[in-house]
Amino acid sequence: MILWLLILKSFGKKLEGLNKFIGIFSHFSSDIVPNTPQKYKLWNGLSLINIKERDKNKNIFLNPRTNKKSMINQSASFEKPFKIEVEKEPTIKFIGSSQAPEEYKKNPFYNNYNWGMADWEEKELFLPDNSDEAISFSIASHELGHLVNKGRIQPDRGNFQNTYQEELRAWAVGWNYLEKHLADYYDNLKSIDDLKGIEEKVKSKMIDITLLTEPFYQNQGEKYAEEQRESFLQTEQGKHIKAEIDGLKGFIEETLANSGKEAFLKKTDWSRFSNVIKKVLVDIEKDNELDVQFNKESNPDFHNEDYIRQVFASENKRDIESLTAYYHFTPDEVRLFSYFAKLRQKTLDEMRPQIEARRQNNPIATEDELNMGAYQESIEPQVRPAVFDLRKKGYATYGSGFSGFDSQEIYFEKKYLKNFQLPAQMVDEFRSRGVIIEIKADRIKLIFKKEFDQEEIKALWQEVESYFPDLRELSPPCQLRQAISFRERQKGLTIGE
Ligand SMILES: [Zn+2]
Repeated sequence: MILWLLILKSFGKKLEGLNKFIGIFSHFSSDIVPNTPQKYKLWNGLSLINIKERDKNKNIFLNPRTNKKSMINQSASFEKPFKIEVEKEPTIKFIGSSQAPEEYKKNPFYNNYNWGMADWEEKELFLPDNSDEAISFSIASHELGHLVNKGRIQPDRGNFQNTYQEELRAWAVGWNYLEKHLADYYDNLKSIDDLKGIEEKVKSKMIDITLLTEPFYQNQGEKYAEEQRESFLQTEQGKHIKAEIDGLKGFIEETLANSGKEAFLKKTDWSRFSNVIKKVLVDIEKDNELDVQFNKESNPDFHNEDYIRQVFASENKRDIESLTAYYHFTPDEVRLFSYFAKLRQKTLDEMRPQIEARRQNNPIATEDELNMGAYQESIEPQVRPAVFDLRKKGYATYGSGFSGFDSQEIYFEKKYLKNFQLPAQMVDEFRSRGVIIEIKADRIKLIFKKEFDQEEIKALWQEVESYFPDLRELSPPCQLRQAISFRERQKGLTIGE
């Protein structure tokens, strides 16, 4: 469910499917594009398809006697040297709910038996793994529906209707995707039919629970979802909903007993279940890809990050309105995105003459700049001190600055932060100040929920940066093409002078 009661994150961005690249990377301008993970994934995806095609051809066996082509019979071959088809792995990560991050489990409305969540932004799907077939499949049918992009309504913490409509949509579209692969789990149609009946009962129960949550959305006094949820739990309605969620197990047991379908209370066979879900995910991703293609063709500009930023920076009311209608941006988002688009533009406008002046007046790079492969002037000033500090601590950075529409990032060449976690208290404290910190193995991202000026962002970065351990090594010279040619040009300079 994407009920605000049940999730911690805020589903704010609606720019999925947008051909996202990481804006101007201050060190290295937009040449960085081919190295961005999104592009890499796309490339990966393409190469996978190619492998699949190639392997298919390998299996075509030309019989020299009859000169007829035939497919190699896979099961007849003892060693199975060829695969008929390379199984395609979905991009969306599929995770058992018991493996969900602790912060999700801390939610008082979390329930080990039935909690699941589809996160289409992070591309993660959690489904109950300590459960019975009735719940695992029913929740799967719903959460998978959320992952279908077409027609998605962005849930909104301040708007029950949006959330409710999205819940209904997910229930409406998920089952058809799931059903196609259920024969991999159940060997008779009767079971699939029975399961559909169960899913419908779970669905109407869940929709009832969803309707109960309406008062939650009216309580906007608290600024953050956690507080809003904590105080809601204190209300009669909140307690009632928790009891309903916790009572689902009993509800299922009773419903199945009444209809003689106790067989579905068996513990879910997780490996076979995963198999089914992964196939569904591949189908959904394929449809999403087609949908993006279709949207891009009908509204090409709306899928160009530069164009979107230009619109936000331009203050052109009509353009902003059509963009807002397309992505369902909230007024808060429009305000924030416009603010940061303008701040970014102002920053870059100020940087250009400084970089030029540096080239003209003082072209010889310092040791640190050689190592980084760029003049310090080409790093956005608000992130500059943090980048230099990180490099001193041994982190090889390769990009930094504004990214997306409300955030800043610093990227690393290596996965230094794979096992790193910031203190929870610090993360909470930042959140209460309007900054969400996201740590990935090779990047740090600050997402701003309110307006910050350049000096404030600079201070935030330095504060965050101070939590990162000293690696006690020299950061290796940046190996990006641009960095290497920067050093080449510098050689010319030193020799020439
Ligand atoms: Zn949902």
